[in-house]
Amino acid sequence: MRRKLAAGNWKMNGLRADLTQLATLAEQRGYDVDVLICLPATLIGSCAGLPIAIGAQDCHTATHGAHTGDISAAMLADVGATHVITGHSERRTDHHETDAIVAAKSRAAHDAGLITIICIGETLVQREAGTTLDVIDAQLAGSVPDCATADNTVIAYEPIWAIGTGKVPTTDQIAQVHAHIHARLTARFADGAGFGILYGGSVKGDNAAAIFAVPHVTGALVGGASLKAVDFTPIIAALA
Ligand code: PGA
Repeated sequence: MRRKLAAGNWKMNGLRADLTQLATLAEQRGYDVDVLICLPATLIGSCAGLPIAIGAQDCHTATHGAHTGDISAAMLADVGATHVITGHSERRTDHHETDAIVAAKSRAAHDAGLITIICIGETLVQREAGTTLDVIDAQLAGSVPDCATADNTVIAYEPIWAIGTGKVPTTDQIAQVHAHIHARLTARFADGAGFGILYGGSVKGDNAAAIFAVPHVTGALVGGASLKAVDFTPIIAALA
């Protein structure tokens, strides 16, 4: 069975002094859970040797070249990243990333040997209009490249209205979307039934156990509650 994944997303937070949080996390051994922290690119190279996986939050579609300010997947792998988030809703919004761009970034990441965490999720307007599953279908079809496998890709279902808001869907709502994603992946990919499918959006220590009990939820992508070891540890424990 696929191991559970507790993935943190520090977003644009963290200076070198904050890496003590990772050292504290690394001391909490013994959980049968993979722990990953997706850091700002500036911090990734400082984490060599820690017994937790380190990821990035974005990569470019190209391997190298004239792209001022951008970072390639190979560069991230070179400094020790094993994973990269692609298609986070904040990048889709702030940087106008389309499904096609997310797919191209994910392909570039796979070519560099990185595991992608591809984010999808509906807005509140889309949910209230009853189009959530249509949005999910379009994002899965458009953002997940054909080279995706259960080994190189994890899907993160993150309803945009739940990110950073303290609002969480009901477990029935999460169950419906996760079952749908699982069915779509199974229909499209030979090993689709084996893809990890994370839930993300206001996961905290006190709601994690209920979310992790939902069928097809194989872990979490956690923003705010991943910044401090004291907040992230109960989430890891709830998965174990
Ligand atoms: P949050 O963020 O846990 O702070 O809601 C989740 C995410 O954006 O991945």
